[in-house]
Amino acid sequence: MLMHVINIGHDVFKANDKIAEKNRKKLDKHLVFSLNVMGAIGSGKTTLIEEAIRHLKDRYNIAVIAGDVIAEMDASRFRKFGIPTIPVNTGKECHLDAKLVEKALNDIDLATTDLLLIENVGNLICPVDFNLGEHLRVVIVSVTEGDDIILKHPMIFKTAELAVINKVDIAHAVDVDAEKMKNDILSLSPSVPVILTSKYDRESLESWIGFIEKELREMQRNKVD
Ligand code: MG
Ligand code: ZN
Repeated sequence: MLMHVINIGHDVFKANDKIAEKNRKKLDKHLVFSLNVMGAIGSGKTTLIEEAIRHLKDRYNIAVIAGDVIAEMDASRFRKFGIPTIPVNTGKECHLDAKLVEKALNDIDLATTDLLLIENVGNLICPVDFNLGEHLRVVIVSVTEGDDIILKHPMIFKTAELAVINKVDIAHAVDVDAEKMKNDILSLSPSVPVILTSKYDRESLESWIGFIEKELREMQRNKVD
């Protein structure tokens, strides 16, 4: 019985990977750099995406896929910038998958897009298993989640290509050591870049935004060459 369940899971992931690969090819063809932004509810995914849009929208054409159980709430926060925003309601599903992104990509003019920001559904577990075709996997964790949150969710921190520890301005108030959180991440994934952010700290936001811009430029340069 257990074997049966495992086999189903394996096929689901294989089918998902195939569609993810198609998504990736489509994005590459149009030089669209894409981020899969993962993290728990309340970690600040929407806020950090808003900051990225605010600072990059004058230089790059940005589109957003807002995945959520009820996606419309976050989508309106992105639409106010006047950028294409595709809400994806996942209903009972607690993650985006490649097929949902494939569908959403049909509603985006990729030829005129430079940067695609994908906000995944808020949890630290199953989004890990579903490749979307993105170029960069980001995990955002807030100090309010407690400093044992990272070691409780090793897989997402092992597979992320950028880790952000957010709301560090209130670390002291919630009795959490952001440096310990950073060390926990590095113990799971020694070479992953870790950025500490607070929406009230301009410089920390510039690190986050600068990282995205650097990766975007690198991807576009490599594909053009
Ligand atoms: Mg959100
Ligand atoms: Zn899920």
